[in-house]
Amino acid sequence: MTATFTSAKSCGCETPIPVERAERKGASVTQCAHCGLPVPLRLAR
Ligand SMILES: [Zn+2]
Repeated sequence: MTATFTSAKSCGCETPIPVERAERKGASVTQCAHCGLPVPLRLAR
């Protein structure tokens, strides 16, 4: 696990378009289709 995720950028779009992407580990990451940055879970739902 990497602890640098907190410093990573996150989506700041007003209306982010959540897109699920499968990671190699088997986990899914929700990204914004606009900027490609990870969408906060509270917004991703
Ligand atoms: Zn975005």
